[in-house]
Amino acid sequence: MVKPKVYVTRILPPPGLEILKKYCDIEVYPEKFKAPPKDAIIEHVRDKDALLCLLTDKIDKDVIESAPNLRVISTCSAGFDHIDLETATKRGIYVTNTPGVLTEAVADFTWALILAIARRIIEADKTVREGRWNIPWSPEYMLGSAIHGKVLGIVGMGKIGTAVARRSIGFNMKVIYYSRTRKPDIERELNAKYVSLEELLKTADIISLHVPLTKETYHLIGERELKMMKKTAFLINTARGAVVDEKVLVRALKEKWIAGAALDVFEKEPVDPNNPLLKLENVVLAPHIGSATWEARSKMAEISAINLINVLMGKEPLYFVNPEVKKIRPLEKVKMI
Ligand code: NAP
Repeated sequence: MVKPKVYVTRILPPPGLEILKKYCDIEVYPEKFKAPPKDAIIEHVRDKDALLCLLTDKIDKDVIESAPNLRVISTCSAGFDHIDLETATKRGIYVTNTPGVLTEAVADFTWALILAIARRIIEADKTVREGRWNIPWSPEYMLGSAIHGKVLGIVGMGKIGTAVARRSIGFNMKVIYYSRTRKPDIERELNAKYVSLEELLKTADIISLHVPLTKETYHLIGERELKMMKKTAFLINTARGAVVDEKVLVRALKEKWIAGAALDVFEKEPVDPNNPLLKLENVVLAPHIGSATWEARSKMAEISAINLINVLMGKEPLYFVNPEVKKIRPLEKVKMI
């Protein structure tokens, strides 16, 4: 029996590869912590029916056009800004992703960042660890900002934005949000108020970004926006680096336009060792680990495998981001599976 051919750009956590192997003939880039160069993806995807990739793989026109048999690009991530959706759709290729299963993990991590920046946790840990805790308990030593009772501003009230907002109930916070569409159910559930981006920037004490990276959201937070924020406010970004103009953010942090930032994502990842953010005190930095729990990553691997197999079997994937592709190429079984 001929199995469909699949290229997988990284060793995935179980049970992703095990599921794929049952139905497909798979070739895996044999690394856990290295991404294949673009040339390698092009070379290996050439004769494949499906590609399973990660957010570090730029799946552009060159890659897509090098693979005439490609039916599905399954990304093991919620974001899909690394895939040329237009070219894929034109070519009748289904693009699938893994939202939902990582929502709670990213929301937990967003809160870890909020607490870390507002209460100076990284600085405190370093002080104790490096033997620099050399003064007695003092009323004004290492003061941070209260979180309880403050205003939380969510930019992008989708799955993760909502999960972050839900967690603020325990902190008795007021929730305001700006998003593409209003969410009356969430407004009722969380007593959240829909405001303009401008009002959110001017009012919120903690601003958390949860929009996808698109043409519209590229550098959504730039000089004008950072200058609108309160001097005491914190900016949290677990969305995508380029939603914020990073160069301007460095100035904002240096010149204290805002109190601080906590970032899981950057314009260039991994960050360059010379990135000026690394020298600043009022920022907490994480290496894009918002969804990095065993539970979430294993579920993401599983869903990305199921999405891919579903398309090859002519079935609707669990999640896909270009439903208009169905008109170009209706779902049909690829080969004997
Ligand atoms: P989602 O459910 O699609 O939520 C995105 C929200 O942003 C939606 O409410 C959407 O509005 C809104 N939006 C889209 N474009 C907008 C615009 N131009 N202006 C204002 N609002 C806009 O996605 P999610 O699952 O919450 O994930 C959000 C993003 O988080 C992903 O795209 C990804 O980039 C990032 N992420 C990061 C990590 C990490 O490890 N740090 C992990 C997972 C995801 P509508 O309701 O109208 O669609």
